[in-house]
Amino acid sequence: MLNIVLFGPPGSGKGTQSEKLIAAHKLVHLSTGDLLRSEIAQKSELGIKAKIIMDRGELVSDDIVIGMIRNKINANLDSNGFIFDGFPRTVAQAGALDKVLAETGKAISLMVTLEVPDEEVIQRLLKRGEQTGRADDNMATIENRLNVYLCQTSPVKDFYEKQGKYHPVQGLGTIEEIYERIESEIKKVG
Ligand code: ADP
Repeated sequence: MLNIVLFGPPGSGKGTQSEKLIAAHKLVHLSTGDLLRSEIAQKSELGIKAKIIMDRGELVSDDIVIGMIRNKINANLDSNGFIFDGFPRTVAQAGALDKVLAETGKAISLMVTLEVPDEEVIQRLLKRGEQTGRADDNMATIENRLNVYLCQTSPVKDFYEKQGKYHPVQGLGTIEEIYERIESEIKKVG
């Protein structure tokens, strides 16, 4: 089983690379951002609350995202593996994920971090905002998301480093080049 945490700042290309990895390894995609946006689209009680937090660029509570992830894992226990995209975003979420996986005898295989400088992610997110109209891709929210990433999310790297699972990858280049770099990290653990 291959269970990958795909990590990196907003706009680092996690969604794009996830699609390629899913196709190549037949993985189940678990994106907390997508799950939350689908709650917003359905105008559920959770979605209405989450939208306010997401529009500010802050993090939705650990309990909510952990609950969503647990349901998705338990609904796909017979899969080839999972790709976690945008999760875990706090050390508490990383600990909870280990626990949920351990309940069914599973574990994270590796964490791949896409390293992209701030100036580049800002440009990419502003462009995505223009193209897709995504509400949180505006300058004020982007700055806050990068701050939240630095303070609350980047400590998750140390969590996996301590487990010997941390694999940084250069996130600049063509989509294909970056994908090949990720595949070579996967080969190291497989
Ligand atoms: P990006 O990585 O491009 O910022 P995502 O689609 O992963 O975008 O997430 C968008 C927003 O959804 C985040 O800014 C946050 O408010 C919320 N969110 C997504 N995943 C999580 C998570 N694991 N924990 C808390 N909040 C989350």
